[in-house]
Amino acid sequence: PYDVLVVGGGPAGAAAAIYAARKGIRTGVAAERFGGQVLDTMAIENFISVQETEGPKLAAALEQHVRSYDVDIMNLQRAEKLIPGQQHVEVQLANGASLKARTVILSTGARWRQMNVPGENEYRNKGVAYCPHCDGPLFKGKRVAVIGGGNSGVEAAIDLAGIVSHVTLLEFDSQLRADAVLQRKLHSLPNVRVITSAQTTEVLGDGQKVTGLVYKDRVGHDDHRLELEGIFVQIGLLPNTEWLKGTVALSPRGEIEVDAHGRTSVPAVFAAGDATTVPYKQIVIAMGEGSKAALSAFDHLIRSSAP
Ligand code: FAD
Repeated sequence: PYDVLVVGGGPAGAAAAIYAARKGIRTGVAAERFGGQVLDTMAIENFISVQETEGPKLAAALEQHVRSYDVDIMNLQRAEKLIPGQQHVEVQLANGASLKARTVILSTGARWRQMNVPGENEYRNKGVAYCPHCDGPLFKGKRVAVIGGGNSGVEAAIDLAGIVSHVTLLEFDSQLRADAVLQRKLHSLPNVRVITSAQTTEVLGDGQKVTGLVYKDRVGHDDHRLELEGIFVQIGLLPNTEWLKGTVALSPRGEIEVDAHGRTSVPAVFAAGDATTVPYKQIVIAMGEGSKAALSAFDHLIRSSAP
């Protein structure tokens, strides 16, 4: 059995594996796609101490760093079931194999909910963005839309209004769902327009980058076009935790509930990164949380009786 088995190979999982391996304990990583969301990212400008890098480059560096230690990397392996136990925690993989470990660190990350409209995938990273903290500054002085009028959409619109020239916020429903204090702040901004009952139906582009979008007015039923350079989709971040339902305590949003040490509701099972309740989903944060979870797992091991 592993001393530490990490499930997920994004920034959180890579950091957890390195911190565990550096304790000289038996460490494994099982990941569906080593690198995680970083693989889908182009410019990264907020990875502290690295002015600018690219997702695939950072993902390769993550893997290289992990491989420099004695870690079993099991890539292209999807975990389907977690079975807690007195002696060992068991993780069952989609390929039928079963891994046993004295401690497990869950770092399966999350995925942004997509609009699923024509043009969205084609112009991803070419004007279609999901993370205002990451990509907001790339649209300095330009026109953008924010899709979604919940807390994250309205927060994004307020944030972006300070950077870009104009923000149009589109909400599907007849009213915004964000907290009143955020809505008041939003409505006080001169360069923000809010359109409700608006269903985005298409992302427009010139083959290279986004040039606009089309939305349907759900009341009048007619189509409208907006000309703009960026579209921030803020209709939800879905944690990859479906497989843990009923085993580990999850928040109403499906995030793994963790305490300040990265402990979950199950003894010997820890969690880190975008899959958890930790606020702000970012690379540096995921790495810090992964490191913390590994140190907590090590602490658990030295306190438990088995040799
Ligand atoms: P993830 O990166 O999501 O990794 C999860 C890992 O778990 C993957 O290896 C995945 O394959 C694996 N996995 C999932 N389910 C299972 C399963 N059942 N069994 C086994 N493995 C599984 N952040 C920044 O700080 N700066 C940026 O500029 C930035 N830009 C971004 C741009 C885009 C387009 C996106 C999508 C995200 C961006 N982010 C950025 C956010 C950042 O990528 C995430 O916060 C970070 O990757 C989270 O790390 P993580 O390890 O928690 O999860």
